[in-house]
Amino acid sequence: MAHVVILGAGTGGMPAAYEMRDLLGREHRVTLISENPYFQFVPSNPWAGVGWRRRGEITFEIEPYTKRKHIDFIAQRADHIDAERNTITLADGSSVDYDYLIITTGPALAFDSVPGSGPHSGFGKATHSICTIDHAERAHQSYLELLDSDNPDPIVIGAMPGASCFGPAYEYALIVLRDLEKRGARRKIPEFHFVTSEPYVGHLGLGGVGDSPQILARHLKEQGVQVHCNMNTLEVQDGKMLSERIDADGKKAAVQSFDFGFSMMLPAFKGVDAVAKVEGLCNPKGFVIVDEHQRSPKYPNIYSAGVCIAIPPVEPTPVPTGAPKTGYMIESMVTALVHNIKAAIEGREGKEEMGTWNAICLADLGDRGVGFVALPQFKPRQVDWYGEGVWVHWAKIAFEKYFIAKMKAGVSEPFYEKLLFQLLGITRLKSDAPPAAASH
Ligand SMILES: Cc1cc2nc3c(=O)[nH]c(=O)nc-3n(C[C@H](O)[C@H](O)[C@H](O)COP(=O)(O)OP(=O)(O)OC[C@H]3O[C@@H](n4cnc5c(N)ncnc54)[C@H](O)[C@@H]3O)c2cc1C
Repeated sequence: MAHVVILGAGTGGMPAAYEMRDLLGREHRVTLISENPYFQFVPSNPWAGVGWRRRGEITFEIEPYTKRKHIDFIAQRADHIDAERNTITLADGSSVDYDYLIITTGPALAFDSVPGSGPHSGFGKATHSICTIDHAERAHQSYLELLDSDNPDPIVIGAMPGASCFGPAYEYALIVLRDLEKRGARRKIPEFHFVTSEPYVGHLGLGGVGDSPQILARHLKEQGVQVHCNMNTLEVQDGKMLSERIDADGKKAAVQSFDFGFSMMLPAFKGVDAVAKVEGLCNPKGFVIVDEHQRSPKYPNIYSAGVCIAIPPVEPTPVPTGAPKTGYMIESMVTALVHNIKAAIEGREGKEEMGTWNAICLADLGDRGVGFVALPQFKPRQVDWYGEGVWVHWAKIAFEKYFIAKMKAGVSEPFYEKLLFQLLGITRLKSDAPPAAASH
């Protein structure tokens, strides 16, 4: 009998638990550990940040659903992993032993890399985040306070140096603009700034995808947004952000400060403490080092997927940026690693699977949206498409309902989803991919 433990019940961890349970016979145990008792659908947080979604619509209690699938669930934070002894110590002091460990702990938010930044700064006017539902609710509150004011200060939205997840910053900026328009409040806001560490609009930590630079630049321009790229934000004070613009040679070109009444700045990510502290498991930022089979080279019974794994930036940029890890890409890592754990349990060496790391992303802009398909996510790509339309807005809403329903039903990849994507040449495993797509 093997005991497989999955640490972190997010976009990667929930499907990992279900897929692992499906692949293994009942003689094996599957345990899911996560610090919160609820699952949250992170891609809906930009909507929660303007009140278009309530907590109850995009979160649900995990245990009733995992129980039905014979997965043990423990709602505790892991504080320590002893990778030599295969033991995890939880926040309540109890411990859990494992034979195989899947780490899907997502990001820790590196507010400490920019002094004064983040919702916990204690400032009346802080730079908010929408990375968790708690943060999105606080951002919404702060946004409402700005709207209550007779003479609101500017809005500043964007991404901090070292950030890797840029898509939600664009989504949130354009959703806020749409919300202001709906409320008839756009003219009340004197200035709206988009401040980003990316070298150009639409870089997205990926060197752009299709026409992303042109499309996103046009949307921001049409809405009268002042855009600032290559911005190295140094410090946040109450209602003020201090940044410097870096030129292409990496030299300081200008110093700029932004007063704001409301701000949301996507922070840089790092690995969560319990994982980052494991000797030899992670890179200096605390991201788990994995091979092409999602396995730790140092600890062969530890696998990892999602935002918590180490991926180098796609290219050097004047202000540091990272590469995003997107939902479908994460699911492809998960599908590969559960097959690899099954192969390891059954002693079938040399039969390891590799995820395709394909990316399909839908970003809502309030009443329309932009979507991209990047096969694989990193260059060179076989498919590199970025498009826009009202249909993306509706597709994103449908996807939200679909993903939450899948997670409640306990299915990671229903056969019709697999079939549909296969017809489009999109697969999670390289072994299922059409020959040209599998060769990268
Ligand atoms: C605001 C936002 C919007 C996004 N929108 C999209 C999108 O539209 N499309 C897309 O493809 N990608 C999107 N992404 C990127 C990515 O898909 C998500 O970040 C995704 O949630 C990452 O999945 P994950 O499993 O790696 O981490 P998460 O979903 O964050 O899950 C990590 C889990 O681990 C738990 N955990 C952490 N530390 C511990 C610990 N010590 N002990 C126990 N549990 C722990 C956390 O509580 C959490 O439940 C978005 C990201 C953000 C931040």
